[in-house]
Parts: sequence; C-alpha cells; structure tokens
Amino acid sequence: MTDKKELTEVASDLVVAIEYKLTVDGEMIDSSDDGPLEYLHGHSNIIYGLEKELTGMKIGESKKVEVSPEEGYGEVDPEAVLEVPRTEFPDDVPLEPGIELEITDDEGDMMFATIMEVGEENVLLDTNHPLAGQTLFFEVSVVGLREAEQAEIEHGHVHFDHDHDHDDD
Ligand code: ZN
Repeated sequence: MTDKKELTEVASDLVVAIEYKLTVDGEMIDSSDDGPLEYLHGHSNIIYGLEKELTGMKIGESKKVEVSPEEGYGEVDPEAVLEVPRTEFPDDVPLEPGIELEITDDEGDMMFATIMEVGEENVLLDTNHPLAGQTLFFEVSVVGLREAEQAEIEHGHVHFDHDHDHDDD
C-alpha cells in the first residue's frame, strides 16, 4: 500500500485533461478535436467561468457550462479602441478593415487587434479580445487527472516536455 490517494475529482494543483466544445451564437468556434486539453487547475490557465464549474467534477463526468462575458473574455471596452498613425504600421501590413494583427504594447505584451477603419492619417484599431462581450457555451468532459509536479505548481502551468528546462514563468 502507498499513501498516494486516488484522484477522483478536479481540485487545485491537479493537472486536468478535458475534452470540450465551445459554441458562441450557435456556431462551434473551438473544440478539443485534436486531443484533450491539459491544464493546471486553480492557476487561471483557462477562463474563470469554466474553471470554477470544473472544480469538483469527476473523471468521466460531462457538463454544459454557460459563461457570461464578465467570467469569460470580458465586456467590450470602448477604451480598447485605439487610433494609431498609419506611419507606425510596417509596409507589409495591408491596411484594410477586418484585418487581424498581433501587436506588441508598450510593456512588450503581445495582443490581438482588428483594423476597424483606415483614414488618411490614422488607423482605428480594436484591441478587445474577439470574444469580448460574448456569452460562451461549453460542453466539457473530464477525461484525466494527475498530480502536478512541483515545478509545474511553481510555474503555474503544465509542462508537456518533462526533460525540458525553461526559465519562463
Ligand atoms: Zn514552466
């Protein structure tokens, strides 16, 4: 006998494998078709509204979860619409409404932006998350649980390659 307890339900500091489908406005926009998603529970690896509902779920259990914008990708923030001079865009970026870009902010963080309008001098960029303001519908199943390694808990995320050291957070 060992004192290792059998893992039966989702709790903090466990690595959880889930299968899921995400539907918005009746349209499926994401799923785990390529294989289950593994994440570290209790470390905000996934959106709050889904993580909260997963707590206590058992292996093999499925659930339908509706996530409001506040507990999902946030409400649309009017102040996240920025006016940027055309001259700040590299020449190879097509300046047309609807084009989606990855940009780096002043702190060096990567974020997504969508071109809304292109004027003579300035470009109007929407840096809201594409799913901001949306209610998310998840169908989620718990398909696996394991104890996290100490390094995973310290880093706050799952390590998929156990031989690989890295310095990120
Ligand atoms: Zn790490």
